[in-house]
Amino acid sequence: MPDTNRRLTIGLITNQIYAQVFEAQWLGVLDAARDLDVNLVIYPGHALQSPFGFEKQANLVYQVINPALFDALIVWTGALDWFISDAELQAFIAQFISVPLVSMETPIPGVPTVGIGNYQGMWDLVQHLIVVHGYRRLAFIAGPAGHRGMQDRYQAYCDCLLAHDLAFDPNLVAAGDFSEQSGATAVLTLLNNHPDLFDALVVANDKMAIGAIQALQARGIHAPLQTAVAGFDQDQTTFPPLTTVYPPFYEMGRLALETCAALAKGQSVPDYIEIPAELVIRRSCGCLPAGLEYNLTPANPNILPQNILPSVSQQITAEVLSIVPYSRPLAQLEALSEAFVDSVTAADVKSFLIQFDKILLSQVYKPEELAVWHQVISVMRLAGRPYWRSPTQAQKAEEICHQARLLVADTERWTHEFQMTTAKKLTMTLHEIGNLLITAFSMAQVQELILTFFPEVGVRRCALTLYEPGAASPTQASLLLAYTENGRCTLPADSLWHFSQTAIPSALLAANQRQSFLVTPLYFRTENLGLAVFSVDSRQGILYETLRSQLSSALKRSLMVGEIQTAQNELETRVASRTAELQQEIQERQQIAEALRKSEATMRALLAAMPDAIFLVDESLHFLNFIPSEGLKTAVSLHDYLGLALHDVFLPELADQCTAAITQALHTPGILLQEIPVTISQAMRTYEVRLMAVGQGNVLGIIRDITERKENETIRENLIEELENKNAELERFTYTVSHDLKSPLVTIKGFLGFLAHDALNGNIDELHKDIDRIRQAVDQMQVMLDDLLELSRVGRLVNEREWTPFLRIITDAISRVEGQIVERGVTITIQNDLPQVYGDVFRLVEVVQNLLDNGVKYMGLQPQPQIIIGAETEAQEIRYFVRDNGIGIDARYHEKIFGLFDRLDHTEEGTGIGLALVKRIIEMHGGRIWVESHGIGHGSTFYFTLPTPPSPK
Ligand code: ADP
Repeated sequence: MPDTNRRLTIGLITNQIYAQVFEAQWLGVLDAARDLDVNLVIYPGHALQSPFGFEKQANLVYQVINPALFDALIVWTGALDWFISDAELQAFIAQFISVPLVSMETPIPGVPTVGIGNYQGMWDLVQHLIVVHGYRRLAFIAGPAGHRGMQDRYQAYCDCLLAHDLAFDPNLVAAGDFSEQSGATAVLTLLNNHPDLFDALVVANDKMAIGAIQALQARGIHAPLQTAVAGFDQDQTTFPPLTTVYPPFYEMGRLALETCAALAKGQSVPDYIEIPAELVIRRSCGCLPAGLEYNLTPANPNILPQNILPSVSQQITAEVLSIVPYSRPLAQLEALSEAFVDSVTAADVKSFLIQFDKILLSQVYKPEELAVWHQVISVMRLAGRPYWRSPTQAQKAEEICHQARLLVADTERWTHEFQMTTAKKLTMTLHEIGNLLITAFSMAQVQELILTFFPEVGVRRCALTLYEPGAASPTQASLLLAYTENGRCTLPADSLWHFSQTAIPSALLAANQRQSFLVTPLYFRTENLGLAVFSVDSRQGILYETLRSQLSSALKRSLMVGEIQTAQNELETRVASRTAELQQEIQERQQIAEALRKSEATMRALLAAMPDAIFLVDESLHFLNFIPSEGLKTAVSLHDYLGLALHDVFLPELADQCTAAITQALHTPGILLQEIPVTISQAMRTYEVRLMAVGQGNVLGIIRDITERKENETIRENLIEELENKNAELERFTYTVSHDLKSPLVTIKGFLGFLAHDALNGNIDELHKDIDRIRQAVDQMQVMLDDLLELSRVGRLVNEREWTPFLRIITDAISRVEGQIVERGVTITIQNDLPQVYGDVFRLVEVVQNLLDNGVKYMGLQPQPQIIIGAETEAQEIRYFVRDNGIGIDARYHEKIFGLFDRLDHTEEGTGIGLALVKRIIEMHGGRIWVESHGIGHGSTFYFTLPTPPSPK
């Protein structure tokens, strides 16, 4: 058996709680929960699979409901099933079936249902339009086909037409989706379908009716002056006031909770209870206001059986109940009827007004709720009329009713005023909270604002929770914040709210206290963020909805800012780490570059130290690489070779020859070696070029300045030649010496034989002659050996060279041969302004002496012997000369006479060594000697040069 003493906890699964039409329902549940001392948790979502905006996102809230945590659940099926099939509705309900369930509005098999007289209400309305107003052509705007109540309403419209013999015209039916806009659209469809305006427009709900009235007005059609309009739902936001059918949502809510509590307690309940819908006559159908109607209408004869009830007050109560069956104040209705009768019949006029005032003060929250009291007064007035005993009583009754209306009017005014002020205040506060939340960019700021302002607007307890990011079907939410009347709750760091364990975060629950909570979804578009839990302390559904929506936006903003910050932090971290990496890389690269630089420098130095320049050129003779060398003279700086051609870099002469060689190398296998002579600064330089084709038309070249090597080679060759000459000369000399020395020896040997012979014969004269001849031969040998000695010395004895006037050399030489000159009567002429000579003075004197000696000696028969000594400049060299007008020398012998022992003239004394000696001395000095003579009898001129000496000081 259920524990009947335990306080029950009931859950309400419903559509939004803020729109006017929905508000009555949840307030009915709320009030009944309070009255029955039942805990209530409300889960407001939207119609299942709602096509509007992001509404269906709200329905994630239904997934956090664990039926096991409730004693029973109420589902307002009629507000959820507009867009789904029966099967889908069944499936939705099936999640909760493990606990006692009550459905509201839409009957579910096996689930007790509290229904509403949709059919009956609509029937009453259509009946009113046909019977009271006599309308014949009634158009109808239907709602979503899935809405079961709508189907009933449509059926009632059709049936009622039929009952009054009015033809059903499908052109007079259009459909909308319960929204205001769809009502306007439907009106346009109807007007287009039908040329004639309909008498009345019956609309399946008030919202569409409001849209319809506006659309009609836009077309210049006034409701109700040109066509009547009536709705269903009790939405009162239009003018003229809408005649409608009030589905008694408040009563339905109350009854649903009561049924639910009974079920939870194990009591049996009916499968289906229907609460009649109430026709609310206002002015859009063409009626006068309700109160006025009743004043003019006679009392209902069916409900007023004379004297059946024991008292007048009971009669009046019965009549009120029959006319206004679902008015809320009915608990006190009997007392009110009694007070009415008392006031009319007794002296205590005030008792009715006092009683009425009590009811109004205690039960009226909204001005619109007072309409029913006007109706009650009207019914009482008419119901009492047959029973007043005197005109005075009748008069009094009229006055009391009049005063009662004034009381209602006063209540209406102040309630309205109060409602307006309250709404304004609430709006202001919500606006303020909204403004503050807009500027909250962090979770901490959002929490701070909740703690500061939510209690101010009457939310005494609240929790803010977040789903795990990206969770499609969450089973838990982390608790971000919770506060109660005692302030902020201390939450553990990872406080989680497991939906399977508690219906409400336990931090919000107060022990032994009945409580009502609202679990509302926080979402942004299609993104589910979390849940907010509010204690229900206000009857303003809009308050919770506004807070929900503002919180959603603020949370989304904070999360986004958080994400951006996280992303930024991550980015910064990555940038920092990448920077560190880059720095490391840069450092490494610098080290590598440094190492490379060093190695390159070493390589450069190495290459620079090489005598070779190395280059690589392409087919168009442009440099691809160039490693210069010291020896190579180029036209431009060698750092700029890239992109330049051979002719840009090399001197023209070198470039021309290189170009030819490269062309040749391209067609030559292996290495092409060429020597290229180039004149640079009037000096000849020689380059050795090695070229090799290296594929793709490129040629690798190695170029080396070999000028010095070439010069050395020439010097070496000259030396070799000189050496060979000297060897030949030496051979000739040795031969000549041995031959010429033999001659006096043969002479001596011969005369020695004569000597011995003469001595033996005693031939003294001949003996002496022989001895003289031997002596002469010995003297001759002596002279020859002296000259040879002298000749050999020439090569060895080298005195220090010095600058000496040539004149001095001449005079020294003349003094040595003066005897011969005088003896032969030779005239010696010495040129003026003779230069200085640089050389071995002693040897140079020997030279001039020999030449002078020969000139005197080989004068022949010249009658005016003459010798001229001087110097002349020819081809930038100074030629010193000794010129005679003697016998001359045949051109054939001009070379020969300089040889050793070569003599032309044997009449004169001589050894044939003189000119050989002279030649050697001159060559020792690096000069040349030669003779010029135009033949026998024309004299001879001996020229000699001395190498260009350094300038005399
Ligand atoms: P020698 O001792 O015979 O003079 P040299 O070597 O001085 O030897 O001269 C070689 C030869 O050259 C001479 O024998 C002579 O025939 C010739 N010769 C030298 N000088 C003259 C000269 N001034 N005029 C003509 N013949 C000369």
